[in-house]
Amino acid sequence: MKIAIGADHGGFELKKSIVASFTDAEFVDVGCTGPEASDFPDYADAVAEKVALGEVDFGVLSCRTGMGMAMAANRFQNVRAALCLDAATAVLARQHNGANVLCLGADKVTPAQAAEIVKTFVSTSVDESERHARRRAKIERAGRLSDFSGLAHDDPEVYAAIKAQVEQEDTEINLIASENTSSRAVRLAAGSVLMNKYAEGYPGKRWYSGCLPVDAAEELARKRACELFGAEHANVQPHCGSSANMAVYLATIKPGDTILSLSLDQGGHLSHGSPVNFSGKLYNIVPYTVDRATERLDYDALERQALEVKPKILLSGASAYPRAINFKRIREICDKAGCIMMVDMAHIAGLVAGGAHESPVPYADFVTSTTHKTLRGPRGGLVLCKEKWAKALDSAVFPGMQGGPLENIIAAKAVCFREWMRPEMKDYAAQIVKNCKAMCKAVADRGFRIVSGGTDNHLFLVDVKARGMTGKDAAAALDAAGIVVNKNTIPYDTESPFKCSGIRVGTASITTRGMKEAEASLIGGWIADILCDISNTAVQADVKAKAKELTSRFLVP
Ligand SMILES: *Cc1c(COP(=O)(O)O)cnc(C)c1O
Repeated sequence: MKIAIGADHGGFELKKSIVASFTDAEFVDVGCTGPEASDFPDYADAVAEKVALGEVDFGVLSCRTGMGMAMAANRFQNVRAALCLDAATAVLARQHNGANVLCLGADKVTPAQAAEIVKTFVSTSVDESERHARRRAKIERAGRLSDFSGLAHDDPEVYAAIKAQVEQEDTEINLIASENTSSRAVRLAAGSVLMNKYAEGYPGKRWYSGCLPVDAAEELARKRACELFGAEHANVQPHCGSSANMAVYLATIKPGDTILSLSLDQGGHLSHGSPVNFSGKLYNIVPYTVDRATERLDYDALERQALEVKPKILLSGASAYPRAINFKRIREICDKAGCIMMVDMAHIAGLVAGGAHESPVPYADFVTSTTHKTLRGPRGGLVLCKEKWAKALDSAVFPGMQGGPLENIIAAKAVCFREWMRPEMKDYAAQIVKNCKAMCKAVADRGFRIVSGGTDNHLFLVDVKARGMTGKDAAAALDAAGIVVNKNTIPYDTESPFKCSGIRVGTASITTRGMKEAEASLIGGWIADILCDISNTAVQADVKAKAKELTSRFLVP
C-alpha cells in the first residue's frame, strides 16, 4: 500500500509519528521537513495531485485542525478529503463517501489516536451499493457547474449564460445531428492555460520561444490522430471544419480550378462550394446530386459526370446524407478521372473512429473533419493526408491561412482521440447507429416519409412537407416540447431554404448520455405525436414533461 503524506509545521510531529507507527505501508512524504512555519496548501496540493493521478492509494494530511488541509485538497477533482476526529468517522468517510484523503488535526488527536484512525481509514473498503455510488458520482458531477464557479464571482453575467447551457443540456433532448456532448476532460483541456501560448509553426519549428509544453500537446494530438484513423499524416491546427477544407483547397489547387461536390441543398456543406461561401467564390464548383428516386448517391452517374467535368478535386462527405458512402468506389472514380480524392467526414468521424462506418482514410488523398460532431471533441478541425501531401498541407494551414494555433483546443483534440482508443467506444459508435435506426423506424411507423427510406448512420431526414408543414414550423413545435432538431432541405426541395421541407434528426448526443434503442424509439414516438398536430400545445407540454423525466435518468457527462 502506498500513502502520500504531508503536513505543515502544525502537523509536522504528528506526521512523523504516523510514519513511525506503520510497518506495512510505503509512505511518499511530500514535506514539510521541519518545524519552521510553512503554508499548508502547498502540501495539500502535492498529496491531492498524487491521489488524483492514481500514483498512491491514499493521502494523509495534517495541520493544527485538519480543516485547511481538507479545504485545499478538496479543490482537486476525484479527491475526497475527510477530516476525521475518531475511527468511527473514518469508517463512514470510507464506506459512504469513498474518501481517499484523510485529514487530521494535530491539536485534536493524540499520536496513538491518529495511528488508529489512519489504520481504520486505509483498511475500510468503499460501499459499492447503488445508493452510495450514486451520491459519490453526484459529488464529482457537481463539476458541470463548479468547474466554472470562479466565474460566479468574477463575471456573473457570463456565469449565468454557462449555467443556462448546463441546465438546457440537462433537461432537453438534443437531436441536432452536428452536435454532441463533450466529456469533462475535453472541456478542461479546452479551458486550460495552453491558450496563453503563441505557437506559430509546428512542434520543434516554432517562431516563438517557450513552446515546449504546447509542442508536447500538439505532438500528442498529431500522433494520436494518425494512430486512431490509421493516417500517414495529420494536421490538427485548423480552427474549424471549414478552415480544414480551405487548407486542402489551398494546398492543392488554384482559384478557378474545378471542384466536383455534393450541392448544399442535397446534403453538402457551405464550404463545399456554396456561392455565398469563399469556396464558391474562389473555385469553379460543379455540383453533383443524389438520385431523384432513391435519394442516394448514384456512383455510376457520378463517374460519368467526373469523366466529363474532369475536376481537380472530387469532394465527398456531407452534412445531411443518411446513407453509408462507398469510398472504395469513389477512389475508382477518382483514379479514372485523374483527380484528387478529398473526403469531408465531419459528420461521421466518430462512426469512422469507432468502426461503425467504413473509413475513407485508406482511399482518400485528403480526409478533413470537424472534431465536435460524432467525434465528441472540442469545436475544431482536422486534416489527414497521405505523406506525399504533408508538406503542402502544413504550409497551407500555416503560414497559408492561419496564424497562431489554438493550443488549448489542440490539447482537447488529443484528449478526445485518446478517449476513442478505449475499447468501449466501438460500442458507443455502434449504439449511435442502432439508436438512429430505432428512432427512424418509430417515426416511419407513424406514416412519415423518411428521405431515402431509412438510415445507415447517425442521422435521418423526415420529409414533413409530405404531411403539409414546413421544416421550420416542425422544428419550432418540437422545440416547444423540449426536443431539439433543425429544419433541413431535402433532395430536390421545393420550399425556400428558410422554411425547408424537412427536419434532420441525429442520435450522437442521446447516445452519449447512455440512451439505447428503447429510449430512442420512445423519443421517435414523441416526435410523431408532435408532428401529427404541430399546433397542439397540450401535446407539446405533455411531451416536454416526459422529456424532462427521461433526461433526469440519463445524465450528460
Ligand atoms: C459541419 C461541417 C463542416 C464545417 O464545420 P465548421 O466547424 O462549422 O466550420 C464542414 N463540412 C461538413 C460536411 C460539415 O458537416
